[in-house]
Amino acid sequence: MAKILDQFLKENLDDLKEQGLYNEIDPVEGPNDAKIKIAGKELINLSSNNYLGLATNDHLKEIAKKAIDHYGVGAGAVRTINGTLDLHVKLEDKIAEFKGTEAAIAFQSGFNCNMAAISAVMDKNDAILSDSLNHASIIDGCRLSKAKIIRFEHSDMEDLRAKAKEATESGLYNKVMVITDGVFSMDGDVAKLPQIVEIAKEFDLITYVDDAHGSGVMGKGAGTVKHFGLAKEVDFQMGTLSKAIGVVGGYVAGTQELIDWLKVRSRPFLFSTALTPGDTAAITEALQMLIDSTELHDKLWENGRYLKEGLKKIGFDIGDSETPITPCIIGEEKLTQQFSKRLSEEGVYAKSIVFPTVPRGTGRVRNMPTAAHTKDMLDEALAVYEKVGKELNIIQ
Ligand code: PMP
Repeated sequence: MAKILDQFLKENLDDLKEQGLYNEIDPVEGPNDAKIKIAGKELINLSSNNYLGLATNDHLKEIAKKAIDHYGVGAGAVRTINGTLDLHVKLEDKIAEFKGTEAAIAFQSGFNCNMAAISAVMDKNDAILSDSLNHASIIDGCRLSKAKIIRFEHSDMEDLRAKAKEATESGLYNKVMVITDGVFSMDGDVAKLPQIVEIAKEFDLITYVDDAHGSGVMGKGAGTVKHFGLAKEVDFQMGTLSKAIGVVGGYVAGTQELIDWLKVRSRPFLFSTALTPGDTAAITEALQMLIDSTELHDKLWENGRYLKEGLKKIGFDIGDSETPITPCIIGEEKLTQQFSKRLSEEGVYAKSIVFPTVPRGTGRVRNMPTAAHTKDMLDEALAVYEKVGKELNIIQ
């Protein structure tokens, strides 16, 4: 190894470990379900994005197996050469139906979807108004586009309006976009989409909503945009297929023209191999299940409310979540990690989230209840929270 690299890695890794900012990775030995096995121990799992339990759904496993038997394990090429299987076409039609748009485009992940879609439309002559708590993939997608990035204070509509006015009246930019998460994944709060759309109309802003954590969760499953009845008003309805939908992938739903453009200008669509057949078939079926029934969605919300009320009653600071995502805000990084470690020793897996994922001093253990949890599991988890919280003087 080059000496300079060796020195760089040692210094920086030691520094991270000293600050309590180095996250250990714990391999899961089996399905990522309501209970998981880590290092041979069974734990109640409050850390997955498998909101509806679909990642381990038996019917979807069968659908994926059948698709693999028929098509093989790989798509064989990028979408624009001959990697577009009829399965991909069916998936994109299903996404459009689910989202209430004319068309949709699927990507291999939510992360690369943001990298692809933002830079396909925005360039160095443009500006992007970006919520200060937007996800890393949005930030990277904006950077890749080379547009001027103008951050507005988190969900602060006065700040957004002032910055939209300044950007559009400056004459410096050809196009201006406003971009936001639909549901903010670290706090569980919901973007103020009706006001954002109103401001966008006033200043002719392009609107882009990343609904990674809203799809399957908000709007009876159809997402945050649908929740507010804005399917025709938001230009880019972006989301992932890896969280509530349970598989992997990302998408943009929008007008036929927008999707036509993305299909000729999105670099991961042009230059990275298509979603696998098994995944593609399973996602399409998962979307159909959400279109057909809200049962899993309803169960998720019931469990979310139950856990929230329980944690609040015990005395934890659970922030201002409006969704099943339930943070327990601890603050100091090392204490946060110690809390999470003790929870795991006592049988609950709830991962600590610290800087740089959240601002310094706002370390938290984030709880993600799912439709697959039982009341007994949640009661067991709450008892552990109370015990460990008191032991570490986080609650009285
Ligand atoms: N956007 C948001 C808001 C996310 O939370 C995530 C996942 N953490 C992504 C995009 C990326 O999605 P994926 O995991 O499908 O790449």
